[in-house]
Amino acid sequence: MGNYAEAPLLSLVVPFYNESEALHVFFGRVVPILESIPRTRFEIVCVNDGSADDTLAKLVGMSRRDARIRVIDLTRNFGKEAALTAGIDEAVGDAVIPIDADLQDPPELIPTLVQRWRQGAEVVLAQRASRATDSLLKRISAAAYYRVHNRLSDLKIPENVGDFRLMDRAVVNALKQLPERHRFMKGLFAWVGFNTVIVQYERAPRSAGKSKFSGWRLWNLALEGITSFSSVPLRSWTYLGTFIAMLAFCYGTFIIARTMILGVDVPGYASVLSLLLFFGGLQLIGLGVVGEYIGRIYDESKGRPIYLVKRRYQERRQERPPHGRAAGNGRVISLVASKPN
Ligand code: UDP
Ligand code: MG
Repeated sequence: MGNYAEAPLLSLVVPFYNESEALHVFFGRVVPILESIPRTRFEIVCVNDGSADDTLAKLVGMSRRDARIRVIDLTRNFGKEAALTAGIDEAVGDAVIPIDADLQDPPELIPTLVQRWRQGAEVVLAQRASRATDSLLKRISAAAYYRVHNRLSDLKIPENVGDFRLMDRAVVNALKQLPERHRFMKGLFAWVGFNTVIVQYERAPRSAGKSKFSGWRLWNLALEGITSFSSVPLRSWTYLGTFIAMLAFCYGTFIIARTMILGVDVPGYASVLSLLLFFGGLQLIGLGVVGEYIGRIYDESKGRPIYLVKRRYQERRQERPPHGRAAGNGRVISLVASKPN
């Protein structure tokens, strides 16, 4: 341990949203594992994503007892993706590992991730070997989602890979340069590239508490992913429109010719009405798709920060390089200054 200060620093980034029940179990399991990794130091960056229970109080209690635990308290619930962004921005480690608080990502895998990183990988992905612990519905929808996404988008996101992974400092710095407010982390992680290695694991059921992702939230996440990385849904309307216009032209020519040859044909109320309704509906769907994108342009153009930090808690002052995102993003980092200590 002679060169302790020189040992690489690992940053564990953990978003917490109403995780009071799972919190102590989490630290109880994670800290010994991190301590067991030779020749490393670690910090645990806990982001309190506007929890309504006593998660914050418990986290602050933990950070009082252990200077390696830091707490970033956000002003409200910004959602997991924003909370992760906050944690990654705040982390100062040579390698950063986002992990869920509910222990569904096995911390036992961390030493393996670190080992691969030491062997030269810049990104070490933890891939779920199977989805046995998920419900059938979730399994089917996940499989369908990856298929649709990877079909529509140029950027392929690896299947069954969550946010649990190890990223080298270089990757994190690249990630911090991405200015978008709609943060589909899986996609952004994949977008930055770098030398990537995959490690497989079995995902455990939640240690305590319950999932914050309802079907509706997952659906929105899926839309987010597709609209963030593909303009195919937008473009497809051009082709559909062209196709229908061509059909209409052929049919129109046929009707005109028939009328000229056989005379006026009055009946046709049902067919006219059904076509009217069909194309009316189709146009509304097209408008809806365009709307999805315009809504996102609107959100991005407002340029609001992704999250706001209310307060940072840390026991002892450690030397920290100036954090924040790459120059030019001009975002509010903190409403209230860090606790002077
Ligand atoms: N989480 C968060 N903000 C939210 C929702 C979730 O920070 O708005 C955190 C949550 O505390 C957990 C992680 O994100 O650490 C994953 O959440 P969850 O286990 O509910 O998701 P699932 O495993 O069902 O996908
Ligand atoms: Mg979970």
